[in-house]
Amino acid sequence: MADKEKYLRIQNVVKKFGDFTALKDVSLEIEEGEFICFLGPSGCGKTTLLRAIAGLDIQTSGQVFQAGRDISALPPSERDFGIVFQSYALFPNMTVSKNVAYGLENQKLEKSQIEKRVRELLETVGLPEQGEKYPAQLSGGQQQRVALARAIATSPGLLLLDEPLSALDARVRVHLRHEIKELQRRLGVTTIMVTHDQEEALTMADRIVVMNDGVIEQIGTPIDVYRKPECAFVADFVGHMNFMNGQVVESDRIQIGSQQLAAKTNGHKPGQAVQVAFRPEDLVAVEDGDMNNAISVNLKDIEFLGSFFRADLTGGDLGQSTINADFSINLSRRVNLEKGRELKIRVPADHIRLFPMEG
Ligand code: ATP
Repeated sequence: MADKEKYLRIQNVVKKFGDFTALKDVSLEIEEGEFICFLGPSGCGKTTLLRAIAGLDIQTSGQVFQAGRDISALPPSERDFGIVFQSYALFPNMTVSKNVAYGLENQKLEKSQIEKRVRELLETVGLPEQGEKYPAQLSGGQQQRVALARAIATSPGLLLLDEPLSALDARVRVHLRHEIKELQRRLGVTTIMVTHDQEEALTMADRIVVMNDGVIEQIGTPIDVYRKPECAFVADFVGHMNFMNGQVVESDRIQIGSQQLAAKTNGHKPGQAVQVAFRPEDLVAVEDGDMNNAISVNLKDIEFLGSFFRADLTGGDLGQSTINADFSINLSRRVNLEKGRELKIRVPADHIRLFPMEG
């Protein structure tokens, strides 16, 4: 095996269902021990890509290599992975222990070795006392832990998680998030998780693969994907983003409506129409005085979101410029202003991102 060979290499994978192309020439490399999230809206191809890696659906063209081995045409049984599905997929007529032991039965182990391993696995997923129960006697979160124990029972090189948390209620979901991440770190197993939940991806992944319409839009650490989105799709899909129509004035100035702001224009040319993007939490409400890089807007509404307030804004002549309805600023305290009142907000130049106008 060549030195630089990555643990998993997906090369020019195309998947067609009849006339419809679900994956359009997808390539991706994953390091051993990484936790990767495939993130994207419904129908973007996340599950299709995961299933191609597992061999559950063979790609129409392209190749998949795992640990230097070309697994492109192998059936799932000859690949080295464990998988957890959204719907638990436990055998209802088998006890928890039997479910976990399932993959071990084919490994020519002594009965006592299997029992020992099952006990260890149930301990690992925090269910040491539940071995004799049946899946229906467990909560959703517990069933998903059993599914996890079953998936890692044979110590696979690759753990595939297909929306494993999305059927669970919010509290259990957040709790299991931490447990799965902790377990993955402890085992060091290369893991790919499919999710449409950006918070899940941001908190769990070493790197996020953002997908849209059968292609990868961006691959990066959670912080890079959030802070340095490379296209308007990623900027919009991950986190809240304000978008406005604007125009580049000079290499360091843009115009929105009749107001000008300093901004890094990063190669966009003077005169070019652009989408101007900035996040609600990067804006600063200016009391008075310092109008540096500030714009005038009007307060439309204010909502309480627990740890902060989000003020919806319209903007005098900016109103025309707003691309989506989501023009807002986060405030740490409630502003005592009646709706419609004028507000000055500063848009720090470093936090403004420009994207080419679509179409
Ligand atoms: P979701 O979060 O809704 O599961 P996804 O990103 O995982 O979405 P996929 O399940 O990968 O999406 O599906 C990608 C596209 O391929 C969708 O448009 C889907 O309708 C289509 N597709 C998936 N499986 C099949 C199939 N067996 N036959 C026909 N079309 C399919």
